[in-house]
Amino acid sequence: MSLDGPLFDFKPEAETSIEPAQQCWKILSVEDDAGYQASLIFALDSLEVLGRGTELLCARSAFDAAQIIAHNPDISVILLDVVMEDDEAGLRLVRTIRDVIGNAEVRIILLTGQPGMAPRQDIMHRYDIDDYWCKSELTNDHLLTIITSNIRTWDHLTQLTRARQGLQMVIDASQAISSKRDIASFTHTVLLEIGHILGIEKGGILCTLLQAQCEADDATILAATEEFTNLVGHTVKSIESSELRQAFHQAATRREHCFLDGYSLFYFNSTEIDKREYLILIETRRPLLSGEVNLLQVFSENISTGFTNVALYNRLTELAYSDPLLCIPNRNWLMRELDNMSQTDRQQAELIVLEIDDFTDIGIAFGEPFCNELLYCLYRQLVSALSPDIVIARIDHDAFALLTSSAQSLDQAFFAQFLSQPLIIADAEHRIAATVTVVALRLQPNRKPEQILRLAESTVETAHKQKLGYLAYNPGFEEDIASRYALLSELRSALSREQFYVELQPKVRLSDKKLLGFEALARWTLPDGQQIPPSQFIPLAETSGLIGKLDQLVLLQTCRALHELKAAGIEVPIAFNVSSSDLTEPKFFNRMLKLIEDAGISPSQLELEITETQAVKDYSRISPSLRKLIALGMGVSIDDFGIGYSSLSHITDLAATTLKIDKSFVDRLGHSRADEQVVDMILRLGECFGFTIIAEGIETEQQRTALMNRGCQMGQGFLFARPMPLPQAIEWARTHIQ
Ligand code: C2E
Ligand code: CA
Ligand code: CA
Repeated sequence: MSLDGPLFDFKPEAETSIEPAQQCWKILSVEDDAGYQASLIFALDSLEVLGRGTELLCARSAFDAAQIIAHNPDISVILLDVVMEDDEAGLRLVRTIRDVIGNAEVRIILLTGQPGMAPRQDIMHRYDIDDYWCKSELTNDHLLTIITSNIRTWDHLTQLTRARQGLQMVIDASQAISSKRDIASFTHTVLLEIGHILGIEKGGILCTLLQAQCEADDATILAATEEFTNLVGHTVKSIESSELRQAFHQAATRREHCFLDGYSLFYFNSTEIDKREYLILIETRRPLLSGEVNLLQVFSENISTGFTNVALYNRLTELAYSDPLLCIPNRNWLMRELDNMSQTDRQQAELIVLEIDDFTDIGIAFGEPFCNELLYCLYRQLVSALSPDIVIARIDHDAFALLTSSAQSLDQAFFAQFLSQPLIIADAEHRIAATVTVVALRLQPNRKPEQILRLAESTVETAHKQKLGYLAYNPGFEEDIASRYALLSELRSALSREQFYVELQPKVRLSDKKLLGFEALARWTLPDGQQIPPSQFIPLAETSGLIGKLDQLVLLQTCRALHELKAAGIEVPIAFNVSSSDLTEPKFFNRMLKLIEDAGISPSQLELEITETQAVKDYSRISPSLRKLIALGMGVSIDDFGIGYSSLSHITDLAATTLKIDKSFVDRLGHSRADEQVVDMILRLGECFGFTIIAEGIETEQQRTALMNRGCQMGQGFLFARPMPLPQAIEWARTHIQ
């Protein structure tokens, strides 16, 4: 039977046993006149109402009556003599029945032997009674008619009350189950609520999950109450009673509710959403009353909705926690997993992030289908390389996370080996580069999941900056990040308040140490006097987009310095440093030219320095700007030249006038043959292509001599002078002018 069909289906033999044995209607006579009571017993003897006989209970006093009523809540009619111990005893009993015992349904018929004792209208109005008769007016027939109609009314009323209470229970029960989201607590609550509705004291209820292609005997018991409690987690096989198992099989095969003597089975499904089917078995050890069946019918509709809701909720959860492309856990899932981990689990676990390098570029070059295929392949390759207890989640468009507490060692060598295997995409071999970072969770006992994941991701950034393919997180990184952040806000305000100044370092002729020019180097002093080295604030300004502003400030001060030097009679060029982002930014370039012009400086008095790495990185966009400057008469120096020979491919048309031999080569002169060869090569390049060559970072006389011997004519370094504030630089220049 499907859920759209009739919910209840009774086996014919069960029909007769639905109602309990027919009971008599209970009538209570409260009367101190024994003769009258005897005549009542006689009169009611053969009375039948709605096919049931009557039973007369007798009380001689209001006190006896109260006790009988309290013990017999199913009394339908009370025939009550108003006058007993005293004139008001009957009326006080009415109050007790209604207000103290709280029985609002029982029909109370007041009888009086003395007409006129208590006025009828007044009494009917003041007391909650249903009839008021004078004994002498009541004929036998009349009495039977009154009792019959009152029994009918009582029956009707109590049925209504029961139905109302039952419905209230169903409403409460439905509310209780509707808040449950996971199947275990949902089914558990359903069973408890069915227990309440049926008032089950003996027996128990259990709920099982029927699995497709599975024998009914193998159905798992999800929840159970009372004597079945121990069966949770087991299968139907473990139910002791063969009769129950039989009934279970029958219901499972027919896929419908079944009502049998002593137990009932309810069938539900949420197949449309999650292909699940459920059977609830209720052992009552007594036949159900028809009213109870009706209530269960109403409730079962709610249960059915509940199963569907839980299935829907699970489906939504699945969507929220899985990656739609690869159908594997996603970032949310990872967070939840980290959140649910105990401290003990964390002791062993590591979070590893694997981020594919240049994924966006791959996307631009090869398109999205290729990228998706790449992710598939990479994922499959991870699955086959990793031990099965390691969970893989996709946490970003270009990144996977591995959560592991496995014995398998996932060290740098493992990933190097892993990434060296090609991915086969559309029958062609592809190799990808990726950055892998590791966070050991034991070091992060109090971190929230988001913080842990962020650590792993910021370690990826650190790895990128340090050009590392593999990096294990260590707590020092974080202090770096925190202090970098603090420094960044300082940097912003320092720039707006122009807290930067320049120091000038002389460039000299090596043979006589005479002044050829200066290099302007940015300096930053915090209000508390602390000096921040350029190695800290330059990269920070570069990554935060503030470098343009900083370089402009330096250029402005360089122009001022040129004026002051000129005023002191010293006319040499000053070099200033720029970042590649300055030159790829047309606005910056134009503003720079305007600034120089406004300052009244000729471009030939200036020299621009850009590092080799930066110049080459964006060479096609930067070289036109550099050429324009050279055309205007400005010098262009390639700084830190020689590191990695990266500019050699452009050497024939390098937009530069000067190459600055990097300090690291100068340092190793006399120690490393290879480095000496690099220096020689740069010097030869200078001759061949007409570049001026200058060596930087000269600290000793030996270095100066060695450089001169190799043909280098210009130099810069502490041997000659450190970078100096302008007044000192002017002093120094006076003694070193040619
Ligand atoms: P750089 O352009 O290569 O500057 C030379 C660096 O070497 C300077 O460090 C200078 O003080 C140092 N130096 C010079 N002679 C010697 C020596 O004999 N021995 C040693 N040990 N060091 C020497 P500084 O001032 O710390 O600057 C570091 C880097 O910061 C600069 O390297 C440059 O790349 C960058 N920088 C400085 N000012 C600016 C600027 O205004 N704009 C930009 N974009 N970058 C700048
Ligand atoms: Ca420089
Ligand atoms: Ca340099």
